[in-house]
Amino acid sequence: LSGASESTTADQQPKKFPKGVVLGKDGKPCRSCTSFASWAAQTKKDVSTGSRAVSTTATAVASGPPADCPPDVETLGRSTWTLLHSIAASYPELPSQGQKSDLLSFVGLFSKLYPCWVCAEDFQGYMARQKPQVNSRDEFSQWLCRAHNDVNRKLGKPEFDCSKWDERWRTGWKD
Ligand code: FAD
Repeated sequence: LSGASESTTADQQPKKFPKGVVLGKDGKPCRSCTSFASWAAQTKKDVSTGSRAVSTTATAVASGPPADCPPDVETLGRSTWTLLHSIAASYPELPSQGQKSDLLSFVGLFSKLYPCWVCAEDFQGYMARQKPQVNSRDEFSQWLCRAHNDVNRKLGKPEFDCSKWDERWRTGWKD
């Protein structure tokens, strides 16, 4: 897991788990904190999910976990960003005090409940440095875009051009 340098990773416990497997606070591998490739590597053979055997060929691993299996850190992240940006897209241009308060509560609780604890702690850190801005849709969407870019930078992914946020998440591309 990129960007998990401050967390407890298998790298620090090479006898038990392969590189990249992030441990949960219970000391067991955390599936929603770990990429499917690293998760699969820990078995060194087919990953057995109940009665199903999942192929761990390079192609299967690269495409992530099967749709009916628990999500890895990437599948969970992709779905979560979709939800968060979609919430921003439907947030009012002129929210009431109640709507602002609800959104602040939501992001605060979200940052505590997110299943990938490494991600959650980093996101809490980001929120402490950059307070969520909820005064309008535009404000919140740009704050969220910067938050997402903070994770992108940490993971070595390209940054997204936040001036294109509206087209990506609300109106669709002009073509
Ligand atoms: P994603 O980053 O999931 O993005 C989905 C789509 O959003 C992209 O295809 C693009 O169209 C669009 N997009 C990209 N950047 C932006 C932006 N700035 N603003 C608007 N739209 C954008 N993974 C880890 O390995 N370690 C972590 O510490 C970690 N922390 C996370 C914290 C949070 C709060 C969340 C929600 C996820 C976190 N993830 C983390 C998962 C990670 O961010 C990605 O979701 C995952 O790696 C899959 O990436 P992806 O390339 O499919 O695109």
